[in-house]
Amino acid sequence: MHELMTSRLSGFHKLPMSERVAKLQRMMRLSTEEASQLEGTDGLPPETANQMIENAVGVFHLPLGMGLNMTVNGKDYIVPMAVEEPSVVAAVSFAAKIVREAGGFTADSDDALMIGQVQVTRYGEPEAAKAKLLAHKEQILALANSFHPAMQKRGGGAKDIEVRILPAPEGPRGEPLLVLHLVIDTQEAMGANLINTMAEGVAPMVEELTGGKVYLRILSNLADRRLARSTCRIPLELLADFDMPGEAIAEGIAQASRFAVADPYRAATHNKGVMNGIDSMAIATGQDWRAIEAGAHAYACRDGRYQPLSTWMLEEGHLVGRIELPLALGTVGGPVKIHPGVQAAMKILRVGSARELAMVMASVGLAQNLAALRALGSVGIQKGHMALHARCVAVTAGARGDWVEKVANLLVLHGHVKVEKAKEILESLRPEEFAAATGTG
Ligand code: NDP
Repeated sequence: MHELMTSRLSGFHKLPMSERVAKLQRMMRLSTEEASQLEGTDGLPPETANQMIENAVGVFHLPLGMGLNMTVNGKDYIVPMAVEEPSVVAAVSFAAKIVREAGGFTADSDDALMIGQVQVTRYGEPEAAKAKLLAHKEQILALANSFHPAMQKRGGGAKDIEVRILPAPEGPRGEPLLVLHLVIDTQEAMGANLINTMAEGVAPMVEELTGGKVYLRILSNLADRRLARSTCRIPLELLADFDMPGEAIAEGIAQASRFAVADPYRAATHNKGVMNGIDSMAIATGQDWRAIEAGAHAYACRDGRYQPLSTWMLEEGHLVGRIELPLALGTVGGPVKIHPGVQAAMKILRVGSARELAMVMASVGLAQNLAALRALGSVGIQKGHMALHARCVAVTAGARGDWVEKVANLLVLHGHVKVEKAKEILESLRPEEFAAATGTG
């Protein structure tokens, strides 16, 4: 049994880093190796890095933090997040705490249906070529599945085909595009490699059936059959803050949501906030965050206008938030089983499937968005953000150890969070203090 199955770890942020790790180690029964993976003292081995990518020269590090207070469908999650930006982890934990008091997030996600695309050209008459492909659906699916028989045994594999005829980008004189979609259930995998194998594998049959020439054979990152959704419903009184009543804060959040629906300039920044949480979690859990980003923004534009991925409305005395986006995630494949840090992160997260991972990730995106809009729609984000940013400024100026916090506090007190000011503060110290503060003693 785990020591304590809660994501509500009061005072966690005040603990020294080593004690945070020790607490997680006890709670999640991490091995010494897994704990040192979290701390970064025992990272990705260079020889593994060398097998993962080309021209490897080493390993790049990012801070790893834990998003707390998440409750999704009644289960608590501690969320590993790898990110360089201050305030992301604090913000998600703060918003998740409010939602937790309101009963937590309610989320669901689709089966792992992905699309492999096969582009056909010089096929003659479009409708005749389309009909030929559709008439041979079972043969095409059988051929696709023959390249990954194990997927079918797991209950996945190629399930369906679709044929699309798209207008030529050059206008009526150009050949319309004929695109075959293989709809593939990738189960616990993100799926890119297996989809590409199947798409390439069926190409000769597609050429034979249509008499055409196939060019591209690759997955689509617009994974719109593999959506994840999350909602939360917050009584207004839980939102009261900054000496403002909950109604006023909620109104600011709803207004921010309207702004994002009406204006792509705002929607882009709104979605950036959502992706702050999603990308951080994706990196820590070994997901292909470029694929997630591509899918999210293409989905945001699905109706021809760029839209926010999440919305907030006032409904019967509650603030109701909703998010929906494609999340093509894997609990197998890619770096998931290769990267020891990812394995430690997955152990902390305790998700049993890629679908569960998607539900938590969508909820993290919604929590991140709530935190940003709550501040933006009331007092603004700079005050909170600058307090955290001040620590980076202090480090840049040369502060080390306990002095990072001290210098950061002075910067905020002066209302002047700049490297020059931090240097000035350090240089005003007595020589022995300066040596201690900058680690040069
Ligand atoms: P992998 O090929 O690494 O692994 C997936 C394999 O895991 C499956 O084919 C399957 O092989 C095996 N597996 C074991 N258990 C299961 C299970 N329960 N469910 C499903 N599969 C299982 O990864 P993906 O195919 O998922 O590809 C993801 C990688 O592709 C990512 O690293 C991504 O960066 C990269 N990529 C992304 C692209 C894009 O997004 N545009 C393009 C190209 C690559 P078996 O059936 O043989 O056991």
